[in-house]
Amino acid sequence: MKRRDVIKGLTILPVAGVAMGSTIPLVSSCASPVKRDVLRELGLRTFINAAGTYTFMTGSLLPDEVMEAMVAASKEFVLLDDVQDKAGEKIAEICHAEAATVTAGCWSAMVLGTAGVITGKDQAKIGQLPDLEGLKSEVITQVSHNTGYVHALKNTGVKIIAVETVEELEKAINEKTAMLWFLNYTAPLGKIQDREWVELGRKHNIPTMIDIAADVPPVENLWKFNDMGFDLVCISGGKGLRGPQSAGILMGRKDLIEAARLNAPPRGGNIGRGMKVNKEEVVGMYAALERYVNLDHDREWKIWEDRIAHIENAAKKTAGVRTSVTVPPIANHTPTLNIEWDPEVIKVSREEFQERLRRGNPSIEVVAGGGNSINITAFMMEPGQEIIVAARIAEELTKASATTS
Ligand SMILES: *Cc1c(COP(=O)(O)O)cnc(C)c1O
Repeated sequence: MKRRDVIKGLTILPVAGVAMGSTIPLVSSCASPVKRDVLRELGLRTFINAAGTYTFMTGSLLPDEVMEAMVAASKEFVLLDDVQDKAGEKIAEICHAEAATVTAGCWSAMVLGTAGVITGKDQAKIGQLPDLEGLKSEVITQVSHNTGYVHALKNTGVKIIAVETVEELEKAINEKTAMLWFLNYTAPLGKIQDREWVELGRKHNIPTMIDIAADVPPVENLWKFNDMGFDLVCISGGKGLRGPQSAGILMGRKDLIEAARLNAPPRGGNIGRGMKVNKEEVVGMYAALERYVNLDHDREWKIWEDRIAHIENAAKKTAGVRTSVTVPPIANHTPTLNIEWDPEVIKVSREEFQERLRRGNPSIEVVAGGGNSINITAFMMEPGQEIIVAARIAEELTKASATTS
């Protein structure tokens, strides 16, 4: 850049309304400042999410009203406990809970909730975790619920006891039993259902916790399990709720929420110190929840169905393709399109097909279905993206079948 151009550039700055000293480049004298595209700067691949709310795909996109709440919160200091108090009250009210707190995800909600159950408000016990000498040290769950997610509970030091029947559960209960844990999405695989689980907890005076991480929609799940009587309910913020990915909600009994918070920042000397949630995320979580409950859910559902139908119609035009649409009963409860193809007719493996969609422009992510098939959901798509997805899938299916003739 010649000196003359620099000077010319500088004189243009105030005209374009850009603060002096800004290094934001201008396209031309009359154009608005070019927004920084940090993802592109970093050389990142962005993609259309035709897959769903996957942690490794960064969960969900933050709606403008959530981002605006977070930006507004970033301009002022407040006390971290104050913002948790106030947002927690509102969240609890929306979800029919006695109390609530924003955590660093559903996982963190489970760690802190379990810690709260074990320690109560006893500072000595809080400082002792994860050493459980002299404390309650077992959590009972069902065999079919005993998945990788129990590791969140094990962070507190507890041992997981897995049972199948009510008889086994009642036999497993002893003075070391801290809590009964229920994983909602595997409920259909278990012999004991949610209501009975709560009743068993009540009968034996043991707190119950449920993990409903990815279980909205339907929106009613936000309060269903609080109404049912679970002592603690844990949900992810950055899945169906479209809040910050590193946020979640722990809600339930007031004394247990208070105890859980004593195991978390801003306090230290506890196992939750690394699970900090900043004020922007607390406020963003609240804004996302409020937005979510106020959505027209029937309309949303119809939009998802229309998008899925559009993609299905495009895909099934190719000979050798079979499609079906189902709705998972719990977790990722949204119309899900399965596209399966006959590998004798359409000569491409599922992995290679996914890779071709990924390498296309724009890049598209879908997930593996069973066998030679892919699964597609539309709830994480932006308006109009279904047209691109439909066209790209049809194109790749056609290409792969053309090579056989
Ligand atoms: C995603 C998920 C979690 C973890 O939630 P985060 O919000 O990522 O911490 C826990 N349990 C289940 C069933 C999940 O799907």
